[in-house]
Amino acid sequence: MEWNVSVQRLVRALRTAGYDTVAVGGCVRDCLLSKEPHDWDLATAAPWYETKRILSPLCSVYETGVAHGTVTAVIDGMPVEITTFRIDGIYQDGRHPKSVTFTTDLRKDLARRDFTINAIAFDGKGLIDPFGGQEDLKKGIIRCVGNPDDRFFEDGLRIVRALRFAATLSFSIEQETEQAIHRQKNRLRLVASERICGEFIRLLCTNDAGKILYSYWDVIHLFFPVTLSKDTLQGLQCAPLDLSIRLAIIGICAQKTGDQMNLILRNLRMERCVCKEVSFLCDHAHMPLPRTRIEARKFRAAFGVYVQPMLAVWRALAKTKSVSFSLEDAIEAQRLVEQSQLQKDCVTRQMLAVDGNDICRETNQSGRQISEAISLLLTAVMEERVQNTKDALLEYLKKAIARQ
Ligand code: ATP
Ligand code: MG
Repeated sequence: MEWNVSVQRLVRALRTAGYDTVAVGGCVRDCLLSKEPHDWDLATAAPWYETKRILSPLCSVYETGVAHGTVTAVIDGMPVEITTFRIDGIYQDGRHPKSVTFTTDLRKDLARRDFTINAIAFDGKGLIDPFGGQEDLKKGIIRCVGNPDDRFFEDGLRIVRALRFAATLSFSIEQETEQAIHRQKNRLRLVASERICGEFIRLLCTNDAGKILYSYWDVIHLFFPVTLSKDTLQGLQCAPLDLSIRLAIIGICAQKTGDQMNLILRNLRMERCVCKEVSFLCDHAHMPLPRTRIEARKFRAAFGVYVQPMLAVWRALAKTKSVSFSLEDAIEAQRLVEQSQLQKDCVTRQMLAVDGNDICRETNQSGRQISEAISLLLTAVMEERVQNTKDALLEYLKKAIARQ
């Protein structure tokens, strides 16, 4: 394992000032798995105000969580969290330790961490791995540091984190840890929805999501109360790694309406745009698929930004009993839509060769009449009853008005 050059400058400065400093957590785990770490976390014997004092001449340092000993240094544009070695006090509410005690003993800091694979430190020379994290990384195992019942009881979030790591790394959960997850699942009720949501999103957008949902549905059902069926698992297996598409598949297979899914997702504090998309997809999943070029245009006009997500949901569900069309139908719908896109078919008001001003000038219509005229023209163009040129459209419109 090797330092990131920028991070190494921070470590050197803290060491030169006499403070033991190591990399720890996700970055060490990811390096050992030969993956590029997406961020670096450091742990240090320096108290946070010392870290800030020592690093301030080098880069900007922000007090991002000093009650827990954390500051964030931004070096070469990269934020690095630096936390003082600490021992967590007694957990009273299933969420946070009542107090934290700072220490200069790295091993005690590693002992408070959730899983063995997250409790390995790197000091520039070698690895400090008191809980067999490297061994578990090799075997592909998620195992709690210490007694799993105690660790999940202390902090219920670790339960969903275990599932998230198992899914994102394609690891299995060690037996004792697995049993404790089922036993302690009710501790999740004490955890803030936003935090559960963050982990659940990462879990869901993995190839192993279906497998984990199936094995731990008793746990997931606590914060995501829908039914899980064979169709759901099959649908997820065929779905892209996209959050809204996956949530919609779960909702549709559980026969939820858009409103029902919206409520479940809002309670979980899912982002509003995700709730909206999932709700739309659930409500429209059973509409007839486009079978002609004209229907493909109308589908594009009606679905707008949800065209691709809806097609992806249809493809994923095609082989399940939750829908009544075949995979061939779904593929044909996709082909028709792509063809329509490639040919730059006119499917929005903005793509029409006339606008409100033209209509107002040429026909003396106003306000709502103009809006209705535009709708009429758009439908006529999509149905190939008139060409999308200014002259043709205005002539068509004048005749239509004359007939009224
Ligand atoms: P990633 O950043 O890829 O999500 P990570 O392991 O870095 O993975 P973070 O949430 O960034 O996850 O946490 C950093 C480290 O802090 C973890 O590796 C772990 O050692 C420790 N940690 C985080 N959350 C907990 C927790 N709830 N209980 C105990 N230790 C935790
Ligand atoms: Mg991290």
